[in-house]
Order: sequence, then C-alpha cells, then structure tokens
Amino acid sequence: MSTTKAEQSLVVLGAGVLGLTIAYLAAFAEDVSFNIKVIARELPGEDMDSQAWASPYAGANWSPMELGGRDERIRMWEQKTFDKLWDMIPTGLVKLLPTRLYTAQEGNISDLWWKDLVRNIRMLSPSDVPESFKAGVAFDTFSVNPAEYLPWLRSELISRGVTFERRNVRSLDELRSLVGPDGILVNASSLGSRSIIGVEDTKLYPIRGQTILVHAPGLQECLIANRETEEATYIIPRPGKGQPDTAILGGTFQPRNWDTSLDMQIARGIFDRCAALAPCLKSAEFRILKHNVGLRPGREEGPRVELERIVLPLERTHGLVPWNESPANDRDHEESMLVVHAYGFGPAGYQRSWGAAEEVLELIKVQVALKRT
Ligand SMILES: Cc1cc2nc3c(=O)[nH]c(=O)nc-3n(C[C@H](O)[C@H](O)[C@H](O)COP(=O)(O)OP(=O)(O)OC[C@H]3O[C@@H](n4cnc5c(N)ncnc54)[C@H](O)[C@@H]3O)c2cc1C
Repeated sequence: MSTTKAEQSLVVLGAGVLGLTIAYLAAFAEDVSFNIKVIARELPGEDMDSQAWASPYAGANWSPMELGGRDERIRMWEQKTFDKLWDMIPTGLVKLLPTRLYTAQEGNISDLWWKDLVRNIRMLSPSDVPESFKAGVAFDTFSVNPAEYLPWLRSELISRGVTFERRNVRSLDELRSLVGPDGILVNASSLGSRSIIGVEDTKLYPIRGQTILVHAPGLQECLIANRETEEATYIIPRPGKGQPDTAILGGTFQPRNWDTSLDMQIARGIFDRCAALAPCLKSAEFRILKHNVGLRPGREEGPRVELERIVLPLERTHGLVPWNESPANDRDHEESMLVVHAYGFGPAGYQRSWGAAEEVLELIKVQVALKRT
C-alpha cells in the first residue's frame, strides 16, 4: 500500500551539531516529507576555524554532567543520543572510548544517575586511582571528531536534497519570505539567539573552553578529573580516518567569559595537569597540533527546546528593527511564523543532540498534523 506524502517547508537556522542533527532526522523521516533549507553564518567543512560557533571545538565525548542527573527530560535526550552514537561505532565515525573518571570524594556506583546509561561501568580499585584523588570509576563511552562528523552530517543531508546557504541573520523578519506562511523555522542558532531580533534571549551566556589538540599514538583511554570546575582536566582520544591518533587535552570551563584569545599560561596548566594523568604525553611521538578556544552556549535554566508563534513583521512591536528590503516581505500584512527553538546546550550539545532533535521533530510533526486537519 502506498502513502501520499505532502511536502512541508522547513528552514533550519544554524548548521552546528544541533541544526544538522535536526535536519538529518527531518530529511530521513518516513511519515512526513520535508523540503529543507539550512541557513547559517558558519558552515561545516568551511568554517571550522571560526570561533563564532561552538561545534568545531567540542571534545566531543559523552561524559556525566550534573544537569543530566537533575532533569529527566535531559537524561532521556542523553540516553537516546548515547544509544544512537554507540550503534554508529562500526562506521568509524564514532570511537568506543574506555574511560576513567577520578573523583575527589568517595562514592558508589549505585549513587551515580548515569550508571545505566553508559556501558561496562565498575569502580576502580584504590591502587588504580592516582594519589591526589579519593576514588575512580571506569566505564565505556564514545567520542566523535567534529572535523569529520559535521561534514559527514552535511554530506548526508545534501544526498537527501537538503540545500545550504551562508547567511548572517539579524532579525527573524528577514526569514519571513524564506519560511513562507505555511513553513516552519527551527532556530538552532546557539549563542546567536542572544542577538537575533525577535529572539533576544539574554539567558544565554558563553562558557569559555580552552583545549589542545594533540597527536599522541599511545593514548587509547579517556581520562577525566574535575570536569565542571574552571580548571577541568580531561584527555579525550578521538576517531579520525584522515588524522589518526589525535586527542583533545582540556581544559577550562569559564562561565560568562567571552574572551576567545589564546592564553598560553592556561595552555601550560592544561598540559601539565594532563601529563600528570598520562605520562605518555611526554613521549617522543607526542606533537601539539593546535590550540583551541571555543565558547560553549550556556543558558540559565538549561537548553531551550520549545515552540513559539512569532507575529511578523516585528517592527510593529519593536520600533527599531533594521529595514528589510526583501520585496516579498509585506510590511502591512501581519502573520505569524511557527518557530521551534533548539539552543542553549552548553557543554553537552553533542551528547544530547539525537535525543533533543527527536523532540524537535515531534513538535514539528504535531504542527504539521494540526495544519492538515
Ligand atoms: C571546549 C569545548 C568542549 C566541548 N566538549 C563537549 C563534549 O565533550 N561533549 C559535548 O556533547 N559537547 C561539548 N561541547 C559543547 C558543544 O560543542 C556545544 O554544545 C554544541 O556544539 C552546540 O551546538 P549548536 O548547534 O547548538 O551551536 P553551534 O555549534 O554554536 O552552531 C550555531 C550555528 O548557528 C549559526 N548562527 C548563529 N548566529 C547566527 C546568525 N545570526 N545568522 C546565521 N547563523 C547564525 C552559526 O553560524 C552556526 O552554524 C564543547 C564545547 C567546547 C567549546
């Protein structure tokens, strides 16, 4: 039996891991057919050195974050993402990552909210815990390499007919004709949502992260200590077909710090802390490939995934909106645009991406169904 699929116009603002994953789920949806356009100021593959977006700078592994333990919805996003990326390990885009997490407090596995989320979890014996820590837990998780994973998502989307356009958006008014009266906009513009007129979310703030990308063939294990303090310490080996045996050494976690300049004193501290955990970083084969500074898109109250109906043109309510010259924008005629927001994923955009994208797609599908009744 064949089913008839009507095309739904979908514009995704943002080509970071969230925008791409949402577009991916929409492009591969079986019950609704979407006509998808991704627009973004920075694009995967082309703008990997720009510090104006977060996705190129991620570790990018799954590791426990406090918010996942407090918020059931986020825990679910993480579980779904973990399972999805775990299943992708055979593709080579995702690396199975044996991990040791050292802690300053004693603890039991039964106290960990994430004990059933990861694989193969066990306490480390005291002799396997460095002297400066009280306890340690070992588990299996995964990492991806943004330099390969983001372009892969983009190429999958292109193969499904999704188009990409580089554009800097200043106001939601500018998107009115592109989205059209029946279209839906996904706003995955991350920290950009602070300044896009019509969103102006001042709950967003940066969390500065400085890291070092290294070539270190001896490293096969991920090591983590003090992950969410200003001076986080972590070593994350990553997959890489083009560039094998690389790892990210971290890092810093500096809320409300917009400084994207490199601080070599911080780099020295990161290297020394990591080398204390993994002496192989002092081997002859070790090379520093790059220093990174990126801004995580933090948000008071956590990520925003919700539907909003925005009345356009904005200039009616916001007297100071820049003049928009598009002839298709009818300035006398008021209409509303459906926007599904998906931003503010802080230090965990990769590890929540598939689960959050699924929720976004559900919100979209409900709207599509409502429009058709
Ligand atoms: C040092 C560091 C380490 C990290 N480690 C991890 C980790 O191990 N695991 C993990 O899960 N996460 C990690 N993260 C966090 C993760 O990188 C982010 O949560 C994630 O990349 C956010 O993705 P995004 O798609 O929401 O935003 P972004 O990647 O910031 O993308 C935003 C998109 O919106 C576009 N945009 C913004 N404003 C405009 C505008 N006005 N007009 C047009 N386009 C616009 C940008 O061009 C870009 O395409 C880390 C981040 C950093 C910095």
